[in-house]
Amino acid sequence: MIPVPAPARQPARWQTLWREAIRDPRELLESLGLPALAARLSAPAQAQFPLRVPRSYVARMRHGDPADPLLRQVLPLDEEDRRVPGFSLDAVGDGAAKGGTGVIHKYDGRALLIATGSCAIHCRYCFRRHFPYAEETAASSGWASAIDYLRNHPSVREVILSGGDPLSLGTAKLAELTGALRTLPQITRLRIHTRLPIVLPERIDAEFLDWIGALPWPAVLVLHANHANEIDATVREACAALRARGAHLLNQAVLLRGVNDSVEALEALSEALFDAGVLPYYLHQLDRVQGAAHFEVPEAESLALLAALRARLPGFLVPKLVREVAGEPAKTPL
Ligand SMILES: *Cc1c(COP(=O)(O)O)cnc(C)c1O
Ligand code: SF4
Repeated sequence: MIPVPAPARQPARWQTLWREAIRDPRELLESLGLPALAARLSAPAQAQFPLRVPRSYVARMRHGDPADPLLRQVLPLDEEDRRVPGFSLDAVGDGAAKGGTGVIHKYDGRALLIATGSCAIHCRYCFRRHFPYAEETAASSGWASAIDYLRNHPSVREVILSGGDPLSLGTAKLAELTGALRTLPQITRLRIHTRLPIVLPERIDAEFLDWIGALPWPAVLVLHANHANEIDATVREACAALRARGAHLLNQAVLLRGVNDSVEALEALSEALFDAGVLPYYLHQLDRVQGAAHFEVPEAESLALLAALRARLPGFLVPKLVREVAGEPAKTPL
């Protein structure tokens, strides 16, 4: 008999979909029937932070609409090349907060682990466009230095997995971390900041659900959707499955010019989140990151939008408008 080599572990379906993401801006524009928009693409922006967008997310974009709110979040246009005073490379002071462990501990009682630098989607407004975090992730050392840090800081009771997108890691890698966290008696809560259930809901597969359902602490997932059109039936299914395993679901959004800067868009987002079993948590004033100035909504306008939203929705569907100010002990309410 011919010996058959042991089969390599099959990539999970979500990992295949991840790899099949669109990375060529021209391919994206062709598929949306928008070839003329190619004239406005920016090569420097694409080189600095390349397009990346899962195909199922592209399917939620409106064909032939150059102003589509989902397309606008991912397309590297020449508006990004404009240098605007006040928009910098390290808009939130994270450069100073890193200690080589992948842990960012700025707030009392909770610490954020930069689990990985990878994301399934590249959002043009994100400050991480200038922080690939390639060498400073908590996972790269097998989590050991992050666990050491937490052991030495028993006041940290809530661990927040962030990134990049922590669910870019395979479930086995996440289980490695939570296995180690179980040895720290101080931990009372696990939080995960992730956009994956929105942009690639297939990530929430049976293996992941088994993992999250078996955690010894309450789990809070803070999702990231900015527009109601991002939330389709596959997203609602993923959210329902997470809730069935006991996870609490919240959402943080960024207030973005041309994406969700109207009371109608914000209202529709809150309603779509609620339909999916998710409550709005934060609405972030844009971090002033270089290349993202065209997304900014001035603070006075943000406040007016929130006041209008408050007049339309129950209080629990109105997110808290906040800004991140370097050196402050919490997000700053506006
Ligand atoms: C935003 C953030 C948190 C979480 O803040 P909450 O108000 O608890 O949601 C924690 N750590 C860091 C470094 C943060 O930037
Ligand atoms: S960290 Fe979040 S907002 Fe930033 S690029 Fe990744 S998925 Fe988008």
